[in-house]
Amino acid sequence: MLRQVAEGVLIHESEFLQSNAVVVQGRAGVLLIDAGVQDNEMACLANDLRELGQPVVAGFSTHPHWDHLLWHAELGSAPRYGTARCAATVRARLSDPLFKARIAELIPPDIAEQVPLDLLGLITGLPAETAQIPWDGPQARIIEHQAHAPGHAALLIEERGVLVAGDMLSDVLIPMLDLNDTADPIEDYLAALRLLEDVAGDVDVLVPGHGSIGGADQVHARIDQDRAYVHALWLPGVHARQLQRLAPRSERDGTPG
Ligand SMILES: [Zn+2]
Repeated sequence: MLRQVAEGVLIHESEFLQSNAVVVQGRAGVLLIDAGVQDNEMACLANDLRELGQPVVAGFSTHPHWDHLLWHAELGSAPRYGTARCAATVRARLSDPLFKARIAELIPPDIAEQVPLDLLGLITGLPAETAQIPWDGPQARIIEHQAHAPGHAALLIEERGVLVAGDMLSDVLIPMLDLNDTADPIEDYLAALRLLEDVAGDVDVLVPGHGSIGGADQVHARIDQDRAYVHALWLPGVHARQLQRLAPRSERDGTPG
């Protein structure tokens, strides 16, 4: 079921980790960000959009983790985008014939059969430095950073006062640092929080990839909370390699939620 969170912006929540698919209404159809997780949920979303007479005209994946790369045939064949770095990461992983089998192992067994992997990750990289999603609708500014996953992007729908945060600023997940693809995961995370803080004044509605929708007050509160958490990791003598040894296996594979 679609729920409006701002004028022309709706979300479809999954049972899996409170994942939020985000729909932004444009002139001739919608932009769909992180389409969803389970087959029946994405089919339901496709049906809701059909009833509204709003075809998907563009898709976007905020980052290269499996639960943000899924798609359903009934959502159609609009171009699906990600940042150049996100798309390159997905392409490299998909070139490994065992990649999907490994993803299948990461999916909780109770929903594994409901997660369709056939259209996973078929995204086009937007050239580096692309400022907006190329589509006919409210401008969606790309805020790219390297926290959580390579080429992660939040989208700011400025006209609607909405920040689509991807896997940042969640109230149900702790900050998960990308320990694979970067020399300084802590600084990358702090830099990303600064970028989000820079636009916080324009945000009335915060939509995290997982968790509850927040109002303007939540943007600063969650930034402060996550910064405090990350600072606490920044203990003297703790380096990225040591953090990596501490991380659970799913995070080291670069494919957490
Ligand atoms: Zn993620």
